[in-house]
Amino acid sequence: SNQRAYNFNAGPSALPVEVLEKAQQELVNFHGTGMSIMEMSHRSSTFEEVHNEAISRLRKLFAIPDDYEVLFLQGGASLQFTMIPMNFLQLEKKASYVMTGVWSEKAYKEATLFGEPVQTASTKEDKYRNIPSLEEIDFGSDDAYVHLTSNNTIYGTQWSEFPDTGEVPLIADMSSDIMSKPIDISRFDLIYAGAQKNLGPSGVTVVIARRDFLAKANKEIPTILKYSTHVESNSLYNTPPTFGIYMLGEVLKWIEKQGGLAAIAKQNEEKAKLIYDVIDNSNGFYTGHASKESRSLMNITFRVADEELEKQFLTEAKDAGFVGLNGHRSVGGCRASTYNSVPLETCKALQDFMIAFQNKHK
Ligand code: PMP
Repeated sequence: SNQRAYNFNAGPSALPVEVLEKAQQELVNFHGTGMSIMEMSHRSSTFEEVHNEAISRLRKLFAIPDDYEVLFLQGGASLQFTMIPMNFLQLEKKASYVMTGVWSEKAYKEATLFGEPVQTASTKEDKYRNIPSLEEIDFGSDDAYVHLTSNNTIYGTQWSEFPDTGEVPLIADMSSDIMSKPIDISRFDLIYAGAQKNLGPSGVTVVIARRDFLAKANKEIPTILKYSTHVESNSLYNTPPTFGIYMLGEVLKWIEKQGGLAAIAKQNEEKAKLIYDVIDNSNGFYTGHASKESRSLMNITFRVADEELEKQFLTEAKDAGFVGLNGHRSVGGCRASTYNSVPLETCKALQDFMIAFQNKHK
């Protein structure tokens, strides 16, 4: 049937229905070529146009300065955990990792294989409920870089302002909030994100990096793991995930139609507010995991009064057509991911459901 679920999946996650329908419509015969976009050479002019358009649209919508490269890679954000220290961290050199969750821990762990990463401003003691204050972030003037996770998918925390690291390069894992609002790209030397939350299907990883930072990379590493390889070949060194890049381009067109990132940011605020308001007005029936000042507009994490009720909440929600509300397996509880493509009506439906559930069970 055509019935779409109330999809709160954490990633892969909801895509705009218009994008899915357009892809469906041009799937069998892409622009009169007699084949789908998946069935043609990645060197064909038809695909190259799709590829280059996606890059230029990304540049325009995200206001990426001219001295930055935009790359479409594979291997997810997880491969970036490895590529970053492999390219930029020399033996016996330090890099500071701001620890705000499991994804920061994974990024840190990979760096230990290449140099001497240092953990800073960890909020682990606090069950990662908080983003550290900017003063807590320590780093050395000689650090290869400072690394942070801009949105913590599992705990539902998000940076609202970023540290000024001066001459020390700043790197951010923006997997779960890339292009959810306008940001000043020039504050960062490298940004990376898997596409599967805000930008499209899984399989494409977006990397945005300052050209003069990329020039500092180690030379003695495998060809495919060098950023320079992908820069020199416009991300067409080997066969890229062509269908994923096409879909990403279509999602970018959809963002453009919404009015760009300022409009998207407003929608995201409005959507998250619907659900946070229920939590805050529930007299403790629902409790948020993240501290208020660190709350994410992308992943809303909460618990229901007691464990039995929480189980019942998740069961009843499932029966009512809600998908993806279980918290990450490492923390439990509930989580509603309200990425760019999750419609306002879907959030409104969850708001109504949460209020009705409380009224029935309080
Ligand atoms: N970083 C963050 C913040 C994430 O949310 C995720 C995935 N949920 C990852 C990294 C890992 O991404 P991938 O699965 O694309 O390797």
